[in-house]
Amino acid sequence: MRVIEDVIIIGSGPAWHTAAIYAARANLNPLMFEWFLAWWVAAGWQLTTTTEVENFPWFVSIGWPELMMKMREQSIHAGTKIETRTVDKVDLQSTPFKVIVGDVVHETNTIILATGATAKRLGLPGEEIYRQRGISACAVCDGWLPFFRNKHLIVIGWGDTACEEASFLTKFASKVTMLVRKDALRASKAMQQRVFDNQKIEILRNTEGEEIIGDEKMMTGIVIKNNQTNEEMTLEAGGLFYGIGHTPNTGFLDGQIELDETGYVITKPGTTVTNVAGFFAAGDVQDKKYRQAVTSAGTWCMAAMDAEHYIVSKH
Ligand code: FAD
Ligand code: NDP
Repeated sequence: MRVIEDVIIIGSGPAWHTAAIYAARANLNPLMFEWFLAWWVAAGWQLTTTTEVENFPWFVSIGWPELMMKMREQSIHAGTKIETRTVDKVDLQSTPFKVIVGDVVHETNTIILATGATAKRLGLPGEEIYRQRGISACAVCDGWLPFFRNKHLIVIGWGDTACEEASFLTKFASKVTMLVRKDALRASKAMQQRVFDNQKIEILRNTEGEEIIGDEKMMTGIVIKNNQTNEEMTLEAGGLFYGIGHTPNTGFLDGQIELDETGYVITKPGTTVTNVAGFFAAGDVQDKKYRQAVTSAGTWCMAAMDAEHYIVSKH
């Protein structure tokens, strides 16, 4: 029997669950695909790379597994069907759209994309050992943690993200050193000025990280190199924050949706509408500015409502 879904949701972060809850409550019987590995890994995605979440309203402090389990439970309770499988491809050339998972093709009237973004890291020697033990890619999320307090912290990058991270970290750190690989500075003038005005921030230009070192339990420093003189030195440091950008998970769309020059889905301002009618995007996959669990969840509520309005307008 041919089954055409009303809504298929692809992705499984905080955005995904919010969309599912709203879509299920609108009687759209959403079918959701969460990245396959194991659902408890899939369900948290970016949040699985952190520890406690302290800025999600209602919870003073909550570990990501509990937060994501509660969201997942609520999605199922609202009537969402969940399949723990990675979506390989979508075909948006005709309606209903096709969502291809292995050798199974699902048809659907609308798609909500919630595949998020992945913070870039450099893969330096030592990085795997000290991941979550001094290394992070989100200062707002992790900078408050006790083991970063009153320590010398390193930020790699010189875009707006890196500048924001460095400024934020000075609330906790004894000193922040930014490693900038070029002489030229990329961040917006306002953000640069904020950094220059901050006495706690040191900037090392033409400088790259070479290796993370530690005492097996925590990172204790970083070997750096001046790429003009090839001079190497070791900085003692209690933490390293990457601010070198994010990669949105949009590769599998094969160019069928309009993306910006960095691969983020372009949505009509103030909505989750994309250039393809019936295809909606929300959360980090279309947001390079705010990138928080709560903002992502908010836009997913919008996506479910936009999808519902679209379906109603077609009947
Ligand atoms: P994601 O969380 O990225 O989820 C996307 C999901 O889609 C993933 O499960 C992924 O596996 C899945 N997916 C991708 N491709 C496919 C596919 N083809 N098929 C099926 N599934 C797919 N925010 C806060 O508010 N508070 C914090 O304390 C906090 N801490 C953070 C700490 C770190 C280290 C990082 C990196 C981020 C942190 N954030 C925090 C940001 C927060 O995690 C993100 O803003 C939020 O998770 C974005 O949700 P999302 O649903 O848009 O995307
Ligand atoms: P960007 O791409 O703007 O900057 C990335 C930074 O990381 C650059 O300094 C880049 O160096 C550096 N970098 C990249 N790869 C490496 C590497 N392998 N080794 C060392 N350094 C590296 O990313 P952002 O995340 O900062 O910003 C993305 C977008 O989001 C921008 O448009 C930004 O304006 C926006 N944004 C806005 C904010 C705001 O308005 N408050 C906050 C955050 C982001 P190089 O310059 O040498 O290439």
